[in-house]
Amino acid sequence: MNTVRPAAPQLADIEPYDPKYIPAEVMISANENAHDVPFELRREIEREVRKVAFNRYPDPLANDLRDLIAEANGLDRDQVLMGNGGDELLFDMALAWGGPGRTFLNMPPTFSVYKNNAQLTNTAIVDVPRLPDFSIDEEAVIARLAQGDIDYTIVTSPNNPSGNRVHTAFVQRMLEAADTLVMVDEAYFEFSRHTVRHLLNTYENLIILRTFSKAFSLAGVRMGYLLGSENVLREFKKVRQPYSVDAVSQAIARVVYANRSEFERGIEQIIAERGRVFDELNAMEGVEAFPSDANYILFRLGEGIDAGEVWQRLLDAGVLVRDFSRSAGLENCLRVSIGAPEENTRFLEELKASIA
Ligand SMILES: *Cc1c(COP(=O)(O)O)cnc(C)c1O
Repeated sequence: MNTVRPAAPQLADIEPYDPKYIPAEVMISANENAHDVPFELRREIEREVRKVAFNRYPDPLANDLRDLIAEANGLDRDQVLMGNGGDELLFDMALAWGGPGRTFLNMPPTFSVYKNNAQLTNTAIVDVPRLPDFSIDEEAVIARLAQGDIDYTIVTSPNNPSGNRVHTAFVQRMLEAADTLVMVDEAYFEFSRHTVRHLLNTYENLIILRTFSKAFSLAGVRMGYLLGSENVLREFKKVRQPYSVDAVSQAIARVVYANRSEFERGIEQIIAERGRVFDELNAMEGVEAFPSDANYILFRLGEGIDAGEVWQRLLDAGVLVRDFSRSAGLENCLRVSIGAPEENTRFLEELKASIA
């Protein structure tokens, strides 16, 4: 044949994921850690990777890592599940709790992967949009959950891209409103220093998502994990790719997690820099920055300034940020990741120049 029949119909409206990850001198678009894993740890990683038998399948569940993470969180191994980045676990959630005839409650604007996964799995989507300041419309969410037909929902804390955190009391109300499976996506919790981990002891319908990609400098390695009840994670095990977490990544993540205190100083510096960048952004005429608990800041450009053009001018000047100006609810907004101090300074200077 020189033709092929159409792919599954739910793909028709989906664009392949494109992070617009263009090489630039200052890469502050993807919320990565500006610093790679410290040199001494890389040496230890190299020693561990040398021991890996490449010809053998890895431990499918990465039990050594699960044990490390379980112990650090006061949980059992069965309450931890590793994934090929947090993204795999988000997809697994749509496979296990979504599907035809099932419903996902979303709170846009938020991480676009959630909606995509629901579409791919033919899951119906109920949107409860955030308020203009990106806080959650709490009463509307609770009322919608209480109708009883939502199979799963995801609340991002801090939210990406807006940076604001969810109220713990609201998470608790969600967990009590229905038996809906509630994921709290804590991809940036190391920067907010807030977790709902303590609620796991009480609520069977809660799971928490975390990642090694942000605070722990391992975006290139692909490692994420879930905390939740043994019963819920058992369903995830049914849909996950058996060997999604490879042996090399397991070895790297073990070393990094065991030495995670080494990342503390860097996290503190990012938090301090976040305060400086926020203040300097808001001091600029025609810029409104939104308060952030994460390692990035969303900001909106004033009337008469085109965010898409500013994005291009920044790129021409060697600074790559993320353009959200064409996303619903994020009109004229850009997002900047907090980089090393000199990167942040350069970004602020170039932004000032490009809106002058
Ligand atoms: C980065 C991110 C993740 C997970 O990313 P991985 O690199 O796949 O681990 C999950 N949720 C949000 C909101 C993120 O920003």
